[in-house]
Amino acid sequence: MKPYREMSKEELASLKEQLEAVYKEYQGKNLSLNMARGKPCKEQLDLSLPMMDVLNSSSDYISADGDVRNYGILTGIQEAKELMGAMMDAPAENIVMYGNASLTLMFDTVSRAWTHGVCGSTPWCKLDKVKFLCPVPGYDRHFAITQYFGIEMINIPMTADGPDMDLVEKYVNNDETVKGIWCVPLYSNPSGQSYSDETVKRFANLKPAAKDFRIIWDNAYCVHHLHPDHPDHILDILSECAKAGNPDMVYKIGSTAKITFPGSAISAIATSKANIEDMKKQMNVQFISHDKINQLRHVRFFKNLDGIKAQMAKHAAILCPKFEAVDEILNKELAGLEIGKWTKPNGGYFVSFDSLDGCAKAIVAKCKDAGVVMTGAGATYPYGKDPHDSNIRIAPSFPTLEDLKLAAEIFCVCVKLVSIDKLLA
Ligand code: PLP
Repeated sequence: MKPYREMSKEELASLKEQLEAVYKEYQGKNLSLNMARGKPCKEQLDLSLPMMDVLNSSSDYISADGDVRNYGILTGIQEAKELMGAMMDAPAENIVMYGNASLTLMFDTVSRAWTHGVCGSTPWCKLDKVKFLCPVPGYDRHFAITQYFGIEMINIPMTADGPDMDLVEKYVNNDETVKGIWCVPLYSNPSGQSYSDETVKRFANLKPAAKDFRIIWDNAYCVHHLHPDHPDHILDILSECAKAGNPDMVYKIGSTAKITFPGSAISAIATSKANIEDMKKQMNVQFISHDKINQLRHVRFFKNLDGIKAQMAKHAAILCPKFEAVDEILNKELAGLEIGKWTKPNGGYFVSFDSLDGCAKAIVAKCKDAGVVMTGAGATYPYGKDPHDSNIRIAPSFPTLEDLKLAAEIFCVCVKLVSIDKLLA
């Protein structure tokens, strides 16, 4: 197909006329489609329903640490630590179980540092300036947490190997006000990229100017492979940090949100013993225990990491055709036109689309007017500000395959129309 920018104004204008007719037809259908949030679909949720039968009124509720029905066992039951440790590639002794969502854990981690400091350092709230590095495009809810605390966010571009490490090193090793970085190392949200071994090693070997600098390593998609027979693989950051003499530098985080039930999951943090002791000071005040019945339910349902992998293979069988359909339609409609680029991830929940500069907001608005809700343009950047106004996050998991295909077709029409307007302007 001929690139749009090589077309004459007349060619573009006549193409626009044809596309507008197609767009009007879609508008006339009063559609209500959604490619916005990375939620599992009903079939995926159904996969975990048998988990609700593993504990009932005749079950025993006794864990290695005692009766899960009562108060106590602050850091979670041993069996859950072993299960999450296996999933998160960390020893059970380095695991603290948390609540039903990892986002709470991340919020609390930043909140604790803000009010009380990290391992005895000055509370961040008492400092004139606190900065966080934010690989972009990234996860809007990470950025919302740091924004909530008034932490200044600095964009770090993503490369095919992960965040631009030259920039990360420059900031972390020289600027004492840089206290942390958000990372989604495997199947990043939204690009789907995974960090190379070299990137992980460079992270582990940082020489932070701030001794309370911490990496928030949100391994939300650690078992979420679309092709379980050839998954991406990342190095374990905890052991790399220990080898590099930085044992306390990382909080590794995970949950079963998109394995079982989002909002009713189990979450965990893997980190050094010193960091665990630091966390426990606040945890002791904040709660007596988390939902240990849910921890036991997950353990009895999955049994071990193989149980989780078997479950994730079923998720992949549902998700894979959806990701393929999106890629196929984008390819069929847009390849060669040079008006957009997109990722083809090997796992995770998103496809990242980059339009021509200055077009993303208009594309999302045009989609909305035709009944297709996309994630707001800009959401993948701190403060909702995409400096190029070009990134759009596509979430293929939730709609039915049929709805998804239609939504992707409409999205392509909108991309074409907005790009033509830009080229004609
Ligand atoms: N981390 C990332 C990178 C995510 O994409 C998501 C959900 O989209 C979450 C965390 C949310 O996980 P949880 O439900 O455990 O809070």
